[in-house]
Amino acid sequence: MKPIQVMGVRGLPLIQAGDNIAAMICENTTVHEGDVLCVASTIYSKSKGHTKPLLAITPSERAIRLGNLNGEDPRFVQAVLDASTDIIMEYPFILSELAFGHIGVRAGVDQSNIEDGMVIFLPPDPMKAADELREEIRTITGKCVGTIITDTCGRSFRRGQTGNAIGWSGMVAIRDFRGDTDLFGHVLKITEEAVVDEIAGFANFVMGESNNGVPAVIFRNCPAWTGHDNLYFTNDEDITKRVLKKEWS
Ligand code: GDP
Ligand code: MN
Ligand code: MN
Repeated sequence: MKPIQVMGVRGLPLIQAGDNIAAMICENTTVHEGDVLCVASTIYSKSKGHTKPLLAITPSERAIRLGNLNGEDPRFVQAVLDASTDIIMEYPFILSELAFGHIGVRAGVDQSNIEDGMVIFLPPDPMKAADELREEIRTITGKCVGTIITDTCGRSFRRGQTGNAIGWSGMVAIRDFRGDTDLFGHVLKITEEAVVDEIAGFANFVMGESNNGVPAVIFRNCPAWTGHDNLYFTNDEDITKRVLKKEWS
């Protein structure tokens, strides 16, 4: 097995609405057949104009109430509410469900790495975003890569944020070990590995969170895996969500 290489893509400018990030990434690096390209959701959203000035937002009564409760700008809270299909927790921070299945703190709405007074939304359909980037890279370079749209997310039970995959293309999300035998011949019954999140986690480490300016990371020589794409629990399966919504005890 060849060593896996991990390379941050340097040299990208501040991304503006209308920028073709696939072309810009290809100008700043050489992709190889079979690479996995991770792209920060932040730059995808900026390139597509999924951003808004706080000045353009009028907070609802609920946004004002939650803003007071959590010590946040009600206009920012309104942006979070607008991006959410369900609010799982209101306090001490808003925990949102989004249309594409993701559950995240403040609906993943960011105020960093953009001009003052602006918010960045997560891509509304990150699976489509990943497909689109993969297609554009194939058109530009002739190379077939896998793509992952990442976002930095908090998590339960442990301090510290990590990178998560919110969209992917050219791979399955989960490597399914069920039915495999371990070193002692035991048949594995439960183990499913969220490979896209593991790759996104390391990509996030290379990106950093502040002024590194590395919104894309390439993985070379990853071994292939097989499994399925059911990364998000269904409502019935998601015990944590049901407990938080007081639907389960
Ligand atoms: P998120 O995890 O998708 O919310 O994105 P972050 O704001 O944490 O940014 C991830 C990485 O991309 C960091 O290295 C940032 O400095 C970098 N980054 C964010 N926006 C831009 C941009 O417009 N241009 C460049 N070159 N880098 C950016
Ligand atoms: Mn983010
Ligand atoms: Mn980040």
